[in-house]
Amino acid sequence: MENCIFCKIANHEIPGSVVYEDEICLAFLDLSQSTKGHTLVVCKDHYENMLECDDQVLTHMFLVAKKLANQMKTNLNAKGVNILSNAGEAAGQSVLHFHIHLIPRYDEKDGFDPVFTSHQGEYDLEEVKKQIIG
Ligand code: 5GP
Ligand code: ZN
Repeated sequence: MENCIFCKIANHEIPGSVVYEDEICLAFLDLSQSTKGHTLVVCKDHYENMLECDDQVLTHMFLVAKKLANQMKTNLNAKGVNILSNAGEAAGQSVLHFHIHLIPRYDEKDGFDPVFTSHQGEYDLEEVKKQIIG
């Protein structure tokens, strides 16, 4: 897609620090480096986000994410890895081309802080369950 930064990196029109590549996807270092080794797994075809992505491409990308996350543990000495994907601008997605973040974790002071705020008790779980099932 024209003017998509990740399409351009995937097509090698602009450079990226590529750590993995095959015919379906590639992985390159995120410029922000939230922690050392922060990597993005990106599909070569343009899908806006995970919800729009072809199932086979999605499955393949998660297998690649798993392989790279294990490499981060072995080769970067990461103690854990946050694996996440923002779907939609309301969810914080800033680049509208599907990508999976791999954020290696070293300790609680490594610079990344995924906070799950608690609203326990605010919602009727039975009601919410019914709404999701539809
Ligand atoms: P999102 O907010 O869409 O989940 O994540 C987009 C990510 O892409 C951000 O973490 C941002 O640092 C990264 N990013 C944006 N532009 C570029 C770029 O040109 N090159 C690389 N390597 N990363 C980028
Ligand atoms: Zn794109």
